[in-house]
Amino acid sequence: MKAITKSSKLNNVCYDIRGQIAAEAKRLEDEGHKILRLNIGNPAPFGFAAPDDILKDVIHNLPRSQGYSESKGIYSARVAVMQYFQQQGIKDVNVDDIFIGNGVSELIVMAMQALLDNGDEVLIPSPDYPLWTAAVSLSGGKPVHYRCDDENSWFPDLADMESKITKKTKAIVLINPNNPTGAVYSKEVLQGIIALARKHGLIIYSDEIYDKILYDQAKHVPTASLSTDVLIITLGGLSKNYRIAGFRAGWMVISGPKLHAEDYIKGLTLLSSMRMCANVPSQHAIQTALGGYQSINELISGDGRLLKQRNIAYQMINDIDGLSCNPAMGALYLFVKVDNKKFNITDDEGMILDLLKQEKILLVHGRAFNIKENNYFRLVFLPHVDELVPALEKLKNFFSTYKQV
Ligand code: PLP
Repeated sequence: MKAITKSSKLNNVCYDIRGQIAAEAKRLEDEGHKILRLNIGNPAPFGFAAPDDILKDVIHNLPRSQGYSESKGIYSARVAVMQYFQQQGIKDVNVDDIFIGNGVSELIVMAMQALLDNGDEVLIPSPDYPLWTAAVSLSGGKPVHYRCDDENSWFPDLADMESKITKKTKAIVLINPNNPTGAVYSKEVLQGIIALARKHGLIIYSDEIYDKILYDQAKHVPTASLSTDVLIITLGGLSKNYRIAGFRAGWMVISGPKLHAEDYIKGLTLLSSMRMCANVPSQHAIQTALGGYQSINELISGDGRLLKQRNIAYQMINDIDGLSCNPAMGALYLFVKVDNKKFNITDDEGMILDLLKQEKILLVHGRAFNIKENNYFRLVFLPHVDELVPALEKLKNFFSTYKQV
C-alpha cells in the first residue's frame, strides 16, 4: 500500500516545545517515572487556580452557549477588550476591530494565513515563541529572524532588524513581555521599531499575552499606545494572566490606519468565519476577567507566589557554576546560558535529553526558540518552592559533572 505522507506545506514547520523530547518524557512516565515538567507555561497544573468569578461566569453562561456565536466573537467580550484598550490610551479601537479566537495560537495562524503569499518575509525575534516562525512557514512565508541581545536585556537589535528588511518584508513581530527571555521592552525600543515599520510600510504584530505578568519595577507599554499611523495588530488572552490556558480564549485587535488595510481585514474576516467561531463558553470569561479584580497582581508583588519563585529560580540558576540568566522582568520563564568555556556542549537537544534521563526534569533546548547558538535552555518557574528548589538542586548536580571542558 502506498505510504500516506504529510503535506509538503509542513516541511519547514517546526514546534519543538512539544516535540521529541516531550515524547521521551511521556515514554518515561509510562514506564512509571515521575517527570517534573518545566517545559510549558501552563499555570493550572502547578496549582494556580483561575479566579472564582471567571469559573462562575462560565458555568452561569453554559446553558446559553450552545449555539455558534458571531464569527468575530460575542459582543460583550469584544466590548470588554475594546474598553481594556481604551483604558490603556488606545482610542481608535471599536468592537469591529476585535476578533476573538481559540487562544492567541489560533489567531497567530489566522493572521499569517490571511497575510502571506509564497516568499513574503516576516521579521521574527530570535529567540522567539516558535509558533510565530511555524505559522509564517505554514502560510508559505519566509521567517527572517532578527537578533535580540543577551548583553542588552534581550532587547531587539534595531540595526540588525533594519538590515534584514527587504522588498518582500511585510511585517515585524514583537513579543512583549517576551517568551522565552522574560524581557519587557522600553518605550524607546518600541518607538524605534514603530519608526522602522513606518519608514518601510510594515505591519507590527505585538504579542502581549503576558502584559500583566511583570516583576520588580517593570512597566508594560502597549505598542499600539505609541502610534496611530502604523497598522498594529495586538494579541492577548486569558491563558497566562488569568491562568486558564485550557479555556482557549484570546483576542486580536487592529489599530492604526485600518482603511488602508481593508482588504487584509476582509481576509481575516473570511478565515474567522470559516471556523465558525471561538469556543463560546470561554468567550463569556473575557468580560469578567478584564473587568474584575486583577488577582494576578497578588502573585507578582510583595510575597506573591510567582515573584518568589522567579527570585529563587534566578538566584539558584546564577549560583550554578557555568550557568547564567537575566532576571525575567515579565512572563514565566528564564532563558539560561550555558557557558561554552566551561562545558563542551555541541548539541543542546542532547543536553536536555541527558538531563531528562538523569534527573527526570523536562526543559526546552534553546534552538527550539529559533536561535543559532546551542548553549541555551528555557526553564518555567511555575512549580511551588518546595518542588522548584529540589529541581534546581538536581540541575546543579547535573551540571557539576556534565561534559566539562
Ligand atoms: N504567544 C506567546 C508569546 C505564548 O507564550 C503563548 C503560549 O505559551 C501563546 C502566544 C499562545 O497562547 P494561547 O494559550 O492563547 O494560545
